[in-house]
Amino acid sequence: MPDMPVLDHILFSQEQLKTRIAELGRQISTDYKGKQPLFVGILRGSIMFYADLLREISIDCNMDFMCLSSYSGTSSTGEVRTMLDLRESIKGRHVVIVEDIVDTGLTLDYLTKNLQHRGAASIEFCCLLDKPANRKIEIHPKYVGFQIENEFVIGYGLDYDELYRNLPYIGVFKK
Ligand code: 5GP
Repeated sequence: MPDMPVLDHILFSQEQLKTRIAELGRQISTDYKGKQPLFVGILRGSIMFYADLLREISIDCNMDFMCLSSYSGTSSTGEVRTMLDLRESIKGRHVVIVEDIVDTGLTLDYLTKNLQHRGAASIEFCCLLDKPANRKIEIHPKYVGFQIENEFVIGYGLDYDELYRNLPYIGVFKK
């Protein structure tokens, strides 16, 4: 256990993340064979997950990004905003949105509404973590790495006030 005063305990080690992400990559590559999916990474929290997941994708695909904001400290502001939009049109594309964690569901709901009129052939969500206990909007991502308890987690792209994104594992934040 590293000397990290803000960390209660490690939830997923680098090895656990790698193994599960490889499984997700294999599953998505099978499901989207021949469809050349567009993987949309939601910045900034999904950065590590996105980079590792895409290395496990064995079919032709494209990459794009959106930057959203909604969190402040350990609680959601409830208001989701687009800070950076997609570069390419998604018309006719099979889109896989890659997100770090689904908590209240407000972000995925915002994305669904924001993207549904842009003419994509399909839109699915791939979330590394799912915190179903805190849901405000019923939403079920098609691909989920791990389900977790209602705890605030940091590391592997996830921050607390813009810190700790660089940790190579996921840990529970000490209150
Ligand atoms: P939702 O809109 O589903 O409530 O939350 C989605 C966003 O909230 C995530 O993309 C993430 O940025 C942030 N979030 C939710 N739970 C956590 C958490 O436990 N830790 C961190 N660092 N961010 C979280």
